[in-house]
Amino acid sequence: MAVKKSRKQIYEGKAKVLYEGPEPGTIIQHFKDDATAFNGKKKQIIAGKGILNNRISEFIMSRLAEVGIRNHYIKTLNMREQLIKQVEIIPLEVVVRNYAAGSFTKRYGVPEGTQLGAALVEFFLKKDKLGDPLVTEECIQVLKICDHMEMQEMKNTALRVNDFLFGMFMGVGIRVIDFKLEFGRFDNGEFIDIILADEISPDSCRLWDSQTNRKLDKDRFRQDLGGVEDAYKEVAKRLGVFSSEGGPVDEIIKNELKIKKRRKSK
Ligand code: UDP
Repeated sequence: MAVKKSRKQIYEGKAKVLYEGPEPGTIIQHFKDDATAFNGKKKQIIAGKGILNNRISEFIMSRLAEVGIRNHYIKTLNMREQLIKQVEIIPLEVVVRNYAAGSFTKRYGVPEGTQLGAALVEFFLKKDKLGDPLVTEECIQVLKICDHMEMQEMKNTALRVNDFLFGMFMGVGIRVIDFKLEFGRFDNGEFIDIILADEISPDSCRLWDSQTNRKLDKDRFRQDLGGVEDAYKEVAKRLGVFSSEGGPVDEIIKNELKIKKRRKSK
């Protein structure tokens, strides 16, 4: 589908842009190649990342819908864009951890890669200015971010997503260390439902090769490990995300990047 230039931009984030959708209640989610870390202090363009995240997220959201986990994904429009349901984003980052990594290792001094006894759900306040602080469930209610039922719903769904992702990735030789989810309130005509929103991609998950522990996620960028695009491609290849296109993933991405360059130079 051709990219319409006249459409109205609603929001620009660090890795995505949101445009008004063709129908009321819909939004176009555009995935950029920009990578940021440490609250925007570290920045880089990683050619092809947007294409990979768009398609990996589409793949995962579609599989989740098939097992009854309601989410905002409607359909893919082109290599970088998908149509999604408009929701009122709940300003929380819901993190599920199976192994210690990232902020958990720093906060509690647990070595990276330590298996946690059971999946752990944590909530962080989505507020860049405050550095997204960890919040307790009581605090979420005091701050009136959401009520107890909504919080339970998010927690239960996050654990269901974890069970699904853990099994799916295990099947392709990848260990799910942790991941971040966002939820939104969606008016389905009968009631306000809490559904999964945002994206699920190597930008928002920690994924390690089961055999070698090679990192296949954004930590390659955060920790200057190099090979970020190749790692994301590896995840896409193992999941079979581009199988409907036929042909190698590298060629598909290369061609798409050429098209973008041509469009820009016009
Ligand atoms: N995460 C994310 N966006 C954020 C913060 C974290 O997608 O703004 C993801 C991150 O990629 C990891 C998980 O959430 O998979 C847990 O991140 P953590 O709390 O360890 O924070 P980080 O080390 O990324 O600062």
